[in-house]
Amino acid sequence: MNPKNFLIVAIDGGAASGKSSTSRALSARFNLLHVDTGSFYRALTAELLRAGVSPADQVAVEAALGRITLGTRLEGRSALMEVGGRVVPEAEIRGREVNAHVSHFAAVPAVRAFLLAYQRGQAGFARDRGFRGLVMEGRDIGSVIFPQADHRFFLHADPEERARRRAREGGQDSIAERDRLDSSRQAAPLACPPGAVAVDTTFNTLDEVVETIARPITAALSA
Ligand code: C5P
Repeated sequence: MNPKNFLIVAIDGGAASGKSSTSRALSARFNLLHVDTGSFYRALTAELLRAGVSPADQVAVEAALGRITLGTRLEGRSALMEVGGRVVPEAEIRGREVNAHVSHFAAVPAVRAFLLAYQRGQAGFARDRGFRGLVMEGRDIGSVIFPQADHRFFLHADPEERARRRAREGGQDSIAERDRLDSSRQAAPLACPPGAVAVDTTFNTLDEVVETIARPITAALSA
């Protein structure tokens, strides 16, 4: 699944822990496909909301998933998920409705199962497009999606600092509530998996966090 010359980097962590900025920087530095799995859960949530489905109604969720087809589009170095041939606009997937519902849909095992193979399939997508590997960010990448990843990191930061970061981005997002739901669910809860490297980003700049993570990757590549 992971031949020596193809690099897989897993970046997990709570909301606004610095995953996206860090992953984008690593993507550019090491020529890795950037895969933001949070955006996949968000796009799927937007589609399920559009279909009028409640996350509490598992039968309806499964029926709706059966009608959804997924594709992938490359934009820059990032993989965007297509739902029924269309990329759900950023404004929609970062909007209030999706923020309020995404963790509820993400806790439904059928939703996680639906995205599992699709997420793993990003490795083939990256290979086909000539990337040296992929950097995938989410909540369960190092624990469930790619437990055998070459490098697994778990980013965390104080809640106040994360709230400040999200406010600076202009987002209206209940990150504490999403973290509570994501950490307490039965299926693939948010947690630092055994063997992953925990990185506290509270008092570090983006450049410092990127250096901390890039160092072992560079060392392994030149070994
Ligand atoms: O990363 P982001 O905050 O955009 O993720 C949105 C939501 O998607 C998370 O709060 C979580 O409920 C869900 N998610 C997940 N597993 C992942 C990525 C995201 O459950 N691998």
